Amino acid sequence: HADLALYQAKSSGRNNLHFFSRHLKNKATFELQLEEELHLALSRDNGLFLTYQPILDLRNGQVVKLEALVRWQHPQLGLLPPDRFIGVAEANGFIAELDAWVLRRACQDLAILAGEGFPDLRVAVNCSALNLCRDDLVDEVKHTLQAHDIHPRRLELEVTENALMSNVNQALYLLECMRSLGLCISIDDFGTGYSSLAYLKRLPLDTLKIDRSFIMDLPGSHADMEIVQAIIGMAHTLHLQVVAEGVESREQLDFLKSHGCDFIQGYLISRPQRLDGITDFLRQQQGSVASNVLPLRPNP
Ligand code: C2E
Ligand code: MG
Ligand code: MG
Ligand code: MG
Repeated sequence: HADLALYQAKSSGRNNLHFFSRHLKNKATFELQLEEELHLALSRDNGLFLTYQPILDLRNGQVVKLEALVRWQHPQLGLLPPDRFIGVAEANGFIAELDAWVLRRACQDLAILAGEGFPDLRVAVNCSALNLCRDDLVDEVKHTLQAHDIHPRRLELEVTENALMSNVNQALYLLECMRSLGLCISIDDFGTGYSSLAYLKRLPLDTLKIDRSFIMDLPGSHADMEIVQAIIGMAHTLHLQVVAEGVESREQLDFLKSHGCDFIQGYLISRPQRLDGITDFLRQQQGSVASNVLPLRPNP
C-alpha cells in the first residue's frame, strides 16, 4: 500500500511526493514524542490517573464492584482515552510498567475505599494480552496486594477474549496461579473474538462480560436479543456470572434483567469517575431509601 501511495504521489507530481514523505515523518515524530512523554508520565507518576465505573448487581440493585479505567491528562493534547496510548505502551515494551502502575493505584484506592466505609467493594483491573506472557506477573500481583494489605478477593482481573484465546495454554497456567492467590477472573469483550467452547470450559473463569456491541441495539435488534440470551444461557451452564457492558437505557436494563443477566455496567448507572466522585456516588446509593441505585421494576 505504501508503494502504491508513493507511486500515486509520484505520478501526480513532485509536490505530492514531498507532502507524502513529510506526512510520514511528522507521524513518526509524533508517535516517538508520545512514547517519550508516556514514559515520563509513568516514571514521574504525573498525568496518569484512574477512573472507576460501577458494576451493578441486578438482583438487589447494589454496586458490588468497580472497573478501573486508566486516563492520561496530557499537557498539550488534553485528556486521552486508553485506546490512544495503550497501543503505544504495548508497541514500546512498557505496557508491563503501565499495568503495574494501574495495579498499585487500584490497591491504594481499595485501601481508601475500605477506610471510607466500603470494605467489601471490589475492583476489576484490565490486563493487557502481552502481560499474560510474563512469568513475574503472579508475584507482582501478590506483592502489591500484600504491600497494601488488600484481601485478594477484592481484586479481579479482566482479560479480553482475544488475549485468552491467542495463547490458551499460557493463559490457563497464569489464570490458575491467579485463582489460587484468590483473585477472580473475568473474560472481557466477550463475543468479539473466537472462543472455543472446549477452552472456555477449561479456563478458570468467574465472570463473562458481554461486549457493548451486542447491547447497543437492544431491545430493537432481534439478532442481538437472541445472541445475548444465548450467551447468558451458555455462561450460566458453565457456572459463570454475566455482566452486560455499555448499558445506556432503561429498556436495555429491563431486557437484561428479565433474561437473567446478573450485572450491568454502563452510562445508565454512571460514567467512569475519579475516586472522590465515585465515593460520593456510593454514599448516595447507601443513603437512598431502598438502597437501590435504580428503582428496579419487578420482572414482567
Ligand atoms: P473495556 O475494558 O471493555 O472497558 C469498557 C469501555 O467502555 C470503557 O472505555 C468505558 O468507558 C466504556 N463504556 C462503559 N460504559 C459505557 C456506555 O454505557 N456507553 C459507551 N459508549 N461506552 C461505555 P475506555 O475507558 O475508553 O477504555 C477502553 C479500553 O481500554 C477498555 O475496554 C480496556 O480494554 C482498555 N483499558 C482501560 N484501562 C486499561 C488499563 O488500565 N490497562 C489496560 N491494559 N487496558 C486498559
Ligand atoms: Mg474491561
Ligand atoms: Mg469490555
Ligand atoms: Mg473493550
